[in-house]
Amino acid sequence: MLLRHTTAEPKVEREALTINPSKTCQPIGAMYAALGVHRCMPHSHGSQGCCSYHRSALTRHYKEPVVAGSSSFTEGSSVFGGQANLLEAITNLFSIYHADVVAVHTTCLSETIGDDVPQIVAKAIAEGRIPAGKHVIHASTPSYAGSHITGYASMVKSMVTSFAKRTDKRLNQVNLIPGFVEPSDMAELRRIANALGAKTVMFPDTSGVLNAPQTGKYEMYPKGGATVAEMVSAGDSLGSLALGPLAAGSAARHLEVQCKVPAQVLELPIGLRATDAFVDALRNLSGTVVPEGLMEERGQVMDFITDMHQYFHGKTAALAGDPDQLLPLAQFLRDIDIEVKYAVTGTPAPKWAKQMAAICGPKAKIKEGGGADLFQLHQWIKQEKVDLIFGGTYCKYIARDEDIPLLRYGFPIYDRVGHQYFPNVGYRGALRTLERILNALLDRQDRDAAEEGFELVM
Ligand code: SF4
Repeated sequence: MLLRHTTAEPKVEREALTINPSKTCQPIGAMYAALGVHRCMPHSHGSQGCCSYHRSALTRHYKEPVVAGSSSFTEGSSVFGGQANLLEAITNLFSIYHADVVAVHTTCLSETIGDDVPQIVAKAIAEGRIPAGKHVIHASTPSYAGSHITGYASMVKSMVTSFAKRTDKRLNQVNLIPGFVEPSDMAELRRIANALGAKTVMFPDTSGVLNAPQTGKYEMYPKGGATVAEMVSAGDSLGSLALGPLAAGSAARHLEVQCKVPAQVLELPIGLRATDAFVDALRNLSGTVVPEGLMEERGQVMDFITDMHQYFHGKTAALAGDPDQLLPLAQFLRDIDIEVKYAVTGTPAPKWAKQMAAICGPKAKIKEGGGADLFQLHQWIKQEKVDLIFGGTYCKYIARDEDIPLLRYGFPIYDRVGHQYFPNVGYRGALRTLERILNALLDRQDRDAAEEGFELVM
């Protein structure tokens, strides 16, 4: 009983205290987004400890070495500011590490002392520290606000404000701006777009970066990632599809204001309905038709649901994670007759909470922001159990104590692999999710069955 001190009923009403948060630092999201730019070096403007933690969180999740620079604040820079450190870092990252883009994000410390990163970058340009054809972009990501999702959103917005340009020429291409999803998901989005015959520009794109193949040779900058030229051309696209309102919506809306590229903000294409909406929007924007192959994939999802519905019906679930993922996941679970009883996200998302309540029904307990933590989720589960938990690795303590199957979903997943390689989005992702749910339920049924009820064929 690792969490034996968690009581079913709250002993005191918590107002400010968060226990086992269902989110992580803003800079982790900014660092992850930056890795989706080709030959980009993320840079953490703060102390080494923050940077080490953020790198190790991403390395543990992706099982790939994540490299990033740090301004390495000491006592002196903490008092007098980190300008000198950042200027020197910019020089080094271009001259020693040969980055094409340096993506600077701030931390709690540099934000608290009030370092003005845009001014420091302007000074670096004025002093000739940024070679011709190279770029420094930046995002403000203090971790006493928001979460890794808002950090991701800020860095993606910075890609738009730093690169996208409008010219006289409209290009026959669509911008895809994925939210905080796996490299496997980004690859799947591109596969669907290619199947539709839609020309797309996707940024960020971590496929081929954080799920790169083993070649026997270390590559500091793997092949993947959106190029600067692609992000510049995003200003001339026919339209933008932002997949995930919180993580991707802001970038698409900025692009609309900046370059008059019409923005549509959709849910992440998780499950049938959200994937249908994505395919339909992409089809409409690019003027293509849905090919037979995609229709077949959709039909397979329908077939699975029809064949196995008796195992899903009436089951209950608790969800913890990122709002952009949980909303379409909850809809998908409802569509296959699994009741979502509880959902928490540490990311501030009041609108999400209302939308979740509409999907999950009046009895569901939904909480967002501060206090929407894994301790709260555990208390609810203790009050009334569920059949499945969906969430990251930190949920394994609740799953073990309450003897409930955990489907690892979202970020972070430190104790399993597969999320880098197999998508959750699209029809293929839906099929994979259905398989994982069914296996968890049937494994439990087998484990708990009396001898006379232990079936060979299920
Ligand atoms: S919460 Fe702030 S101080 Fe702590 S690791 Fe994150 S950025 Fe650094």
